[in-house]
Amino acid sequence: MTEKTPHQKSDSTGHGRPDAEAREQLGYFAGRVMAMESLLIEKGIIQGSDVQRMADEIDSQSPTDGARVVARAWVDPDFKARLLTDPMTAIRDLGYELASNMPRLEVVENTEQVNHLIVCTLCSCYPRALLGRPPQWYKSLAYRARAVVDPRGVMKEFGTEVSEEVELRVLDSTADIRFLVLPQRPKGTEEMREDDLVKLVTRDSMIGVTPARSPASSAVL
Ligand code: FE
Repeated sequence: MTEKTPHQKSDSTGHGRPDAEAREQLGYFAGRVMAMESLLIEKGIIQGSDVQRMADEIDSQSPTDGARVVARAWVDPDFKARLLTDPMTAIRDLGYELASNMPRLEVVENTEQVNHLIVCTLCSCYPRALLGRPPQWYKSLAYRARAVVDPRGVMKEFGTEVSEEVELRVLDSTADIRFLVLPQRPKGTEEMREDDLVKLVTRDSMIGVTPARSPASSAVL
């Protein structure tokens, strides 16, 4: 007995495929997703509750998780060293559950000399376990195409001027590997507590398009 999603209706064959009218109302992509979901359920590969559980899990993730990891690395040199060499273990040690089958994660450090910029040229691969859903612009064709050929120009559009002296490294995410940028700790934060540092770490700084917030531009102080 298969489970039905709320959008499904049983047809005369007893199958729970969404009807054409429902698919049309949703638009092309949502309709296609619904059709695939229905088939997977029908064939017994997944249950309806699996989809909802995964959706809930994704919705529960946010850039704050990544920000906590970054802030810890800023205050704890040993953790930072482990984060850069064995990120999955270091992050699990902080109490985060990372699925054993998730794509390999690499953490790359931005410095005075090097700025990493993350993109997925093919689609929208992204370290969702630490940042949640990617922003719309990350998935756009414009970003995916231009980040590779004109990273400096793209960063400028985000308000980030990168000196010609700084090497820009563009990292292309795939289904097998995801990247998280460890942004530089902003100047003037030497006395700040870890909890307050977390608030300076933005989603975009962990993608590499902007630096972390400076305390002066933040509402923290
Ligand atoms: Fe992708």
